[in-house]
Amino acid sequence: MIEAKDLGLKSIGKVYHNPGYDDLFAQETANDEGRVAANGTMMVDTGKFTGRSPKDKYFVHQSPSSKYIAWGKINQQIPAEIFDELFDEVTEYLSGKDLYVTDGFCGANEKTRKSVRFVTEFAWQSHFVKNMFIRPEAGDLASFQPQFTVYNASNLKNEKWEYHGLNSEVFVIFNIEKNVAIIGGTWYGGEMKKGIFTMMNYWLPLENILSMHCSANVGKAGDVCLFFGLSGTGKTTLSTDASRKLIGDDEHGWDEDGIFNFEGGCYAKCIGLRPANEPEIYNAIKRHALLENVVADEEGVIDFDDASKTENTRVSYPIEHIENHEPTLKASHPKNIIFLTCDAFGVLPPVSKLTKEQAMYYFLSGYTAKVAGTERGVTEPQATFSACFGEAFLPLHPTVYAKLLGEKMEKHGVNAYLVNTGWAGGGYGVGERMSIKATRACVNAILDGSIKNADFEETRWFRLNIPKSLPGVDDTLLNPRNAWADKEKFDATANKLAGMFIENFKKYIQSGDDFDFTKAGPQA
Ligand code: ATP
Ligand code: MN
Repeated sequence: MIEAKDLGLKSIGKVYHNPGYDDLFAQETANDEGRVAANGTMMVDTGKFTGRSPKDKYFVHQSPSSKYIAWGKINQQIPAEIFDELFDEVTEYLSGKDLYVTDGFCGANEKTRKSVRFVTEFAWQSHFVKNMFIRPEAGDLASFQPQFTVYNASNLKNEKWEYHGLNSEVFVIFNIEKNVAIIGGTWYGGEMKKGIFTMMNYWLPLENILSMHCSANVGKAGDVCLFFGLSGTGKTTLSTDASRKLIGDDEHGWDEDGIFNFEGGCYAKCIGLRPANEPEIYNAIKRHALLENVVADEEGVIDFDDASKTENTRVSYPIEHIENHEPTLKASHPKNIIFLTCDAFGVLPPVSKLTKEQAMYYFLSGYTAKVAGTERGVTEPQATFSACFGEAFLPLHPTVYAKLLGEKMEKHGVNAYLVNTGWAGGGYGVGERMSIKATRACVNAILDGSIKNADFEETRWFRLNIPKSLPGVDDTLLNPRNAWADKEKFDATANKLAGMFIENFKKYIQSGDDFDFTKAGPQA
């Protein structure tokens, strides 16, 4: 039996320690935390927060971690005294309450996995982390010793945030030396998922293991493919492929033995979900899965097109819900790496083969583009550059990860490709988003190696190598300039986007740096 003192609390109400799925379902119902969809899946609303709060994330500034962390807007520092004060508030607040304590592993490799404990106020948060992290066997649970603990006090706001010099009453603070994180003021489960991912991105590279924001799957011949990309670019959608075993949809490590998932579940977007386009994900939405912020009618029938609560509607499910998954969550070294981008400018080709130098350039650039606002007439996309396709989760300098990736790609002779899952035939408002079918045809040509038989040509501006034709893809799509009716407009847009790449990459040009990949990027 877990006691208050084991959790560092003064007292405790009822403790639900590692509840099973049926217990969680009963609790969620009893606490009125959610409703059951027509197909039996629990649906919850995550409250005011339907996404993460990156501006409220901090690391305690102390030794020795301080010398490794790349401090700045992403990795903000907070003095140890303020952490101590807030930690006391959090434990005071949680003391005496009924709590859920959920234990899980992060990392499928026994040698380097981390034992993480989550202390939460709500059953659905326990359900979420149970879905997302690796569920220990009964024996491992009995002897579980947490190496890191997350205290989630969702309802506790930091009233003194201005006095403390923080961004808002929400706080997500990591204390690396004490192996503790505290969360307050937000309910969003993603803070726990991506929070521990952030810690993995601290721990592993210091042991010379690469940690990556990517999905992974493996073919019948054992050929592994990694899909990197920022949010919404297709990591989950494209790695979930009936003909290949899913290893994981979001976070992986790459060590001497090969690649391994950090997680035990997936977190898929639900907006616009169609069973015909994404049958595996659609069918994963069943009992034990957890739907967030979706809209359903009185009978519990979900309208997957309803974004009235948020565009970011989600479902978490244990990976076993994907029939064709790799049960060890591990595989050998990758053969192919695909960088996904959702280019709303419609400039980047649907598929390009990258040289080694280009791979480094596009990895460090970490480009995607968001569609700006939904107001009529506002059609200008917003470019995002996030190093390693996940700078928001990287405590160390991006070049640490890039260097590791480059070495591993070289050592294992990995092929790299850039795949644009975004717009074609014009930017947002003029062209259309690439169909999932066309993107899958490009991906399949990479995976079965047939792309290597194609004739290639080089694009202007970005000087990317693109195939002239591929089975299952319209020839006019392959060269983005051909797909645009207005060629002058294309040239102007391509020139503008090239300029943004060049501007963004300036921060990686330093004298004495071994990273000068600008020659591999677009030229003005
Ligand atoms: P996150 O890091 O937030 O989990 P992700 O990279 O996993 O993001 P997905 O969940 O795969 O992103 O989201 C891709 C979304 O785009 C899905 O909703 C999918 O249906 C939609 N989509 C539309 N066209 C395409 C396409 N051509 N390729 C991939 N996805 C597409
Ligand atoms: Mn995903």
